[in-house]
Amino acid sequence: MSVHEYISQTLENIKKSSPGQTTFLQAATEVLHTLEPLLTREKKYLDHKIIDRIVMPERTTMFRVTYMNDKNEPCSHFGYRVEFNSALGPYKGGLRFHPSVCLDIIKFLGFEQIFKNSLTGLNMGGGKGGANFDPKGKSDGEIMRFCQAFMNELYKLIGDVKDVPAGDIGVGGREIGYMFGQYKKLTNRFDGSLTGKGLNWGGSLVRTEATGYGSVYFAQEMLKKQNSSLEGKKCSISGAGNVAIYTAQKLYQLGALPITVSDSTGFIYDSEGIDVELLKRIKEVERKGLSEYAAAKPSAKFTPVNQYKAGTNAVWSVPCDAAFPSATQNELNLEDIKTLYSNGCRLVCEGANMPSTLEAIDFMLAQKDFLFGPAKAANAGGVATSGLEMAQNASMQKWTFDEVDSKLHRIMTNIFHDSYDTSVEFGEPGNLVLGANIAGFRKVADAMIDQGYV
Ligand code: NDP
Repeated sequence: MSVHEYISQTLENIKKSSPGQTTFLQAATEVLHTLEPLLTREKKYLDHKIIDRIVMPERTTMFRVTYMNDKNEPCSHFGYRVEFNSALGPYKGGLRFHPSVCLDIIKFLGFEQIFKNSLTGLNMGGGKGGANFDPKGKSDGEIMRFCQAFMNELYKLIGDVKDVPAGDIGVGGREIGYMFGQYKKLTNRFDGSLTGKGLNWGGSLVRTEATGYGSVYFAQEMLKKQNSSLEGKKCSISGAGNVAIYTAQKLYQLGALPITVSDSTGFIYDSEGIDVELLKRIKEVERKGLSEYAAAKPSAKFTPVNQYKAGTNAVWSVPCDAAFPSATQNELNLEDIKTLYSNGCRLVCEGANMPSTLEAIDFMLAQKDFLFGPAKAANAGGVATSGLEMAQNASMQKWTFDEVDSKLHRIMTNIFHDSYDTSVEFGEPGNLVLGANIAGFRKVADAMIDQGYV
């Protein structure tokens, strides 16, 4: 059987063993096909059946989370923790609270996390978790009780050298705080079992900014390779949460102009540039929709989702030089990328996890004059800084903002060069999807071989 047939067979097996898990299958398809040149060259990975093993989580836990809402009614949700791969270190990956969460979504995120964490060069395995709970419209008391109920199960799995969750969509500093409080109550331990903690109780400076900053550092490296820069570039961003906000902030610092943001209600086009402080107030403090932004800023236009052309994400219809998808998976499809490209966009750097569909990725890779930074590499700054938080916790140290930021910058630069050099090594210079996947995979696979069949 050829390597290509073997990969196709593995993907068929996933379809049969995990019926309906289309998002996980999409993530596996993207990774496995790009590994073909490596698997053809290095027979050991086939001999040790690494591919068959790496697509299976080491452990999957699903649990009920019941909390009392403000009307004194019990509400129940599904909770998940997928501990995918521990070859390189303790499982590490965020928790997502969103109504769309199901095993398929958590498996896709956990699988991606294995390779992303490997690329950071830090000793972290891959995992992910969450619940199909919608924090929107819930009172602070309801959020607290939900987080405590979630931790009543999660604490059995986690630990600073075992499994270290962090935030993701719907889980920010507030939620991590409530979960950490309950973890402490249940275990009588104050340790680094969660990252994204508050700054005065074990959190790291720059963790909040890290994913957005890291994504912009990555774009900067891609452009540098072409003797270009972000200076003066108009940039479109999707999302209006943690990643989007700090992407916008770093773009300003590097001389670019962020002109859009979006949320689940619609998108903003602000020709004068996104006002980051206003955005933070509306999304982080008031927790409102983006129409409030347009109400407060005359240069901004709000387009609600019900006015989007069917099958497209209208935030990508705004002409720009570079795009930073930073909301959610599959938010940039083939039609969207064709629109961006025909309007002059020549760079996409993924802040969200798997925001581009497989067809959109194929289109970007086929353009000779286009730069594409895939999520695994480009958004690794968040988990890398979580790794730095773990290091500070373990050594009882606290590094300054500049110390952490410069380490983050160095890690993102290394990830770019590692991915780029690997793309050159395998004869596809600049194909960072192939470069990042092979560079991330190789370290994990070698560690799995070293550690035997367990
Ligand atoms: P937040 O919850 O802070 O923000 C998410 C933003 O995306 C919100 O503005 C939300 O809108 C919008 N959004 C979410 N789902 C949808 C949807 N289905 N349709 C339209 N808009 C949507 O999350 P983060 O910023 O932390 O995460 C964004 C992405 O980045 C995710 O893919 C996450 O996995 C990825 N990521 C995050 C990291 C981190 O450190 N936070 C690290 C690496 C990756 P609304 O406000 O209306 O809910």
